[in-house]
Amino acid sequence: MPKQSQHGIVLVTTDPTYKAEGKAFKKTSWCLFCNEEFIKLPRHLQTAHKQEAEVEALMKLPKRSKEKDHALALLKNRGNYHHNMEVVKKGSGLFMVTRRPPPGQQISHDDYVPCPQCFEFLQKQMFKRHVKEGCQKKKEFNSTRKLRQEAESMMLEYRGISQEM
Ligand SMILES: [Zn+2]
Ligand SMILES: [Zn+2]
Repeated sequence: MPKQSQHGIVLVTTDPTYKAEGKAFKKTSWCLFCNEEFIKLPRHLQTAHKQEAEVEALMKLPKRSKEKDHALALLKNRGNYHHNMEVVKKGSGLFMVTRRPPPGQQISHDDYVPCPQCFEFLQKQMFKRHVKEGCQKKKEFNSTRKLRQEAESMMLEYRGISQEM
């Protein structure tokens, strides 16, 4: 069940197998360029943002290839990251994470940090494993510690914004 924090921020997952109260969430993604929600993000990118260099590069990749899946996942992560920043700034809305929280655990958006390399939100205890094994974008940072520091400063950046409001 999504947890409603005192700020009105609801944690939801884009994992299509995740169900809350017997209902699966719509698997939507936020567009990086216009911060709108889409069920079919690739189609939207192709029609609305084909002039963007990143979208152009994405479209050049072979259909159904691993490279294309990865490039698309990175664009989705970045869109969701910007959306989540807005949610924290406003103090309400749906906070998107890729991985579902373990069943029965009461966790909130505060328990997540963004990966500075791929912008995926991870539970803090999963961070190290993600960087070592799960991250789609590797080797921009030379140590896990530096990455973790970068992640923390990304969080501070948007907590700072939310305190100003
Ligand atoms: Zn858009
Ligand atoms: Zn990552």
